Amino acid sequence: MNKISIIVPCYNEEESLSQFYLETKKAVASISEATHEFLFIDDGSRDHTLDILKLICCKDPNCRYFSFSRNFGKEAAMYAGLKHANGDFCVIMDADLQHPPKLLADMYHAVSKEGYDCCAGKRIGREGDGAVRSFLSRSFYSVIQKLTHMNMSDGAGDFRMMNRTMTDAILQMQEYNRYTKGIFSFVGFETKWLEFENVERAAGNTKWNLKSLFAYAFDGILSFSTAPLKLPGILGVLLFLVACCLGISSLAGSLVSHQAADNLTLILTVVIFLSSLQMMMVFILGEYLSKDYLENKKRPIYIIRESYQGKLP
Ligand code: UDP
Ligand code: MG
Repeated sequence: MNKISIIVPCYNEEESLSQFYLETKKAVASISEATHEFLFIDDGSRDHTLDILKLICCKDPNCRYFSFSRNFGKEAAMYAGLKHANGDFCVIMDADLQHPPKLLADMYHAVSKEGYDCCAGKRIGREGDGAVRSFLSRSFYSVIQKLTHMNMSDGAGDFRMMNRTMTDAILQMQEYNRYTKGIFSFVGFETKWLEFENVERAAGNTKWNLKSLFAYAFDGILSFSTAPLKLPGILGVLLFLVACCLGISSLAGSLVSHQAADNLTLILTVVIFLSSLQMMMVFILGEYLSKDYLENKKRPIYIIRESYQGKLP
């Protein structure tokens, strides 16, 4: 019988945790073809989250918890959960019931019967999120798609059920600065999308503010794109063209008027020309840096989905 591991990052979720557990337990228990386990990751909560987890785990032998020594962030919590999960299928869920447990049965069907490696929830609508946050989030995803050429769309979050092959591929990505949405896209695999309406969290508050969202967005771009390192190159070429135009126009002007070009234009041309050279040198350094940066991440060079190698004689 297959086993589903439900991974739940929790940070100060005392208000919603019990309700989450009850509703999700009901939903997963209704999948008769699979057993399940819950892995709660207490990400250094300062409220009674850990006490509630202890109570849940005391009563339900299918529950385990891991409590971090401090708040390491949701990315670290998801990684820890995936690392300790031993199910054939792993699903990541938020503890605030914003990921509807009723989708679990359809997700399981997609990954166990329909041949998909992953079935991911895609949130439609943004009720409950502020207008500014919605706008910034949409803008961010359109920028990151263009910079990385990877499929990271607004609404496609961490709520997804994956088979063991995909889970292991994600665990092969050992990078410290984890941006899981990018990692899902990087490892590939066949994904089915299930749309669900956005709902407000069951209780408590979001852990994100504008500052942390900006930092997260910046992290995402830096983790999966070296495009910003190309900016000095673009600027260098532009400055070079400006210097050429200035130089040519002042030369032409002095030929027509039979007078030497004025000193200010000459100085400006030389300064802009030298700046363009500097920018191009910075660009070359950036190119070396980006190669080294990607080497350091030690990402897998390829990921095999399935293979046939014949029988040994
Ligand atoms: N979370 C976490 N560590 C953090 C922040 C959040 O484990 O540092 C968990 C949180 O408890 C929740 C999930 O990540 O289960 C999503 O967090 P939140 O609801 O605050 O994010 P939002 O839904 O607003 O994007
Ligand atoms: Mg939430």
